[in-house]
Amino acid sequence: MRYISTRGQTPPHSFSEAVATGLAPDGGLFLPETLPDFSADLARFAGLGYAELCFEFMRVFATDIPPGELRALVAASYRRFSDPTIAPLRPLGRNLYALELFHGPSLAFKDFALQLLGQLYARQCALRGEKINVLGATSGDTGAAAIQALLGRPGIAVFILYPDGRVAPLQERQMACTGSGAVFALAVDGSFDDAQSALKAVLGDGEFRRRYRLSAVNSINLARVLAQCVYYLHAWLRLPAGERAGVEFVVPTGNFGNVLAGWMLRKMGVPIRGFKVATNQNDILYRFFTTGQYRADLVRPSLAPSMDIQVASNFERFRYYCAGADPAAWPEFTASRCTDAEIPGIIRRVYREHGYIIDPHTACAFQDLNPDRLSVVLATASPAKFPETIRAAIGVEPTDPALEALKTRPIVKHRLPADPEAIRAFIGEHAV
Ligand SMILES: *Cc1c(COP(=O)(O)O)cnc(C)c1O
Repeated sequence: MRYISTRGQTPPHSFSEAVATGLAPDGGLFLPETLPDFSADLARFAGLGYAELCFEFMRVFATDIPPGELRALVAASYRRFSDPTIAPLRPLGRNLYALELFHGPSLAFKDFALQLLGQLYARQCALRGEKINVLGATSGDTGAAAIQALLGRPGIAVFILYPDGRVAPLQERQMACTGSGAVFALAVDGSFDDAQSALKAVLGDGEFRRRYRLSAVNSINLARVLAQCVYYLHAWLRLPAGERAGVEFVVPTGNFGNVLAGWMLRKMGVPIRGFKVATNQNDILYRFFTTGQYRADLVRPSLAPSMDIQVASNFERFRYYCAGADPAAWPEFTASRCTDAEIPGIIRRVYREHGYIIDPHTACAFQDLNPDRLSVVLATASPAKFPETIRAAIGVEPTDPALEALKTRPIVKHRLPADPEAIRAFIGEHAV
């Protein structure tokens, strides 16, 4: 399998090259040259555990990695998850399930892709005998997940840009309390979109990128989207067989990476009725799927900070597949939006009705559920990451031992303007 760019100006790359490069050299995003059709494999997939299913899926894409090696990388990627099923599907009531994606080391769904990406980077370093500097921009959870995937690996330094003061306190601690000399928490002035565009400018400087062997861990990395397809497939296989085709996955959405993965899986022959794009008050995608207008607004910081995004970078992949089509042509998408004023009430209602504690991102997805449709809500983060919001809503404060340990460690962060020049200078000083 080879990989092409959404902008059409990049020669086809192998899987490993596309993963190592992150952003395509023409500024576009990598996509498989053709999408496989898994419809004939679904019966065979049904009995597989998570890591084995992931291997069977990824081997179709990672054709330049020997299967034995890929199987070991995938197995190692899901070893640190605390739930034995990796992605448990919890029945909550009639027509309603929660797909828990927060049992990985950073307690958010980003671990599914980044644990695998970390393994792929380490393999590449070992193969080439090269050091790499990994760069990412985060609205909260990607940074922590990237750090958990790469911390302590020889020859890898990690630079994470995040909007200063706009991530949750424990999210910041996950990035800034590692105690590692090779992990840099860069608190940038401005919003996530400012951090992301500064990052794009740094990566767009080919000379600089090559000199420091930079790679991006953003949701633009192809391996992330592919790895995320797997939990949709795993969950789909665990639904009652007669109901699977009617399922709507309800996805708390920011950068469009999560829901894009599900939609691509549907294009690969898995019968899924559709997807609900659930946004917070930063509702550009809600407006797009309800009115057809794609118009960025100012980012308004919210209780669900990992969704505080107006420029959804993965949207470019979606647009590539839908070039020129009318949004009404996608009956498989519905959308909802949830303001900050509504989030605590939803957390309270779900706790009362189902005895189930959800985090503020997941809460957005419980907005306006259709009771007559089989819904699988993606629970994207552990409520323990947002104890203040949960306590204010239901009077209970969820905790997690991995987070408790962080609370007493010193915060080490570097404040920078959202200026590519300042970021380049910092990397130049601290790169491996
Ligand atoms: C990143 C994140 C999202 C948004 O996912 P996208 O792929 O950016 O759409 C939602 N919830 C949580 C908890 C996240 O960390």
